[in-house]
Amino acid sequence: MAIENTLSIIKPDATKRNLTGLINAKFEKAGLKIIAQKRLQLSRSMAEKFYQIHKDRPFFKDLVDFMISGPVVAQVLRGDNAVFLNRTIMGATNPEEAENGTIRKEFAESIEANSVHGSDSLENARSEISFFFAYIELVN
Ligand code: ADP
Ligand code: MG
Repeated sequence: MAIENTLSIIKPDATKRNLTGLINAKFEKAGLKIIAQKRLQLSRSMAEKFYQIHKDRPFFKDLVDFMISGPVVAQVLRGDNAVFLNRTIMGATNPEEAENGTIRKEFAESIEANSVHGSDSLENARSEISFFFAYIELVN
């Protein structure tokens, strides 16, 4: 397997409940290293741009409203097979379908307010990381 970087976002439902540390502990316990991290308030246009891929989905407007409802923590996770490993640690989009022990099973409030975002492919990870971080901000 190869060492990869992937983008993670701790979403507003989780930052509001002060869950950043508990979520980060899950990543670190699973062997992912947090090589960049920043807390920020997304603007509507930033959230719309980040989720462009979903612009025609019925939940797009609600998703954007939710993502700007409070601070997020954007982060880069690094490790063996990081893109897939992070998706496993996160659990299914719908927390009712997520496996025990996953972040979404333990913390998500709903299919929308599901606590974390994670890149779904290496190609998307590259573009999503560059959306939030400059190369010099990734400190391995
Ligand atoms: P994932 O985050 O697991 O990759 P998607 O890329 O399909 O899931 O969707 C992006 C985000 O949009 C989800 O994490 C969730 O916050 C929201 N979302 C997805 N499906 C729904 C839905 N049916 N209703 C409301 N919000 C949704
Ligand atoms: Mg997705």
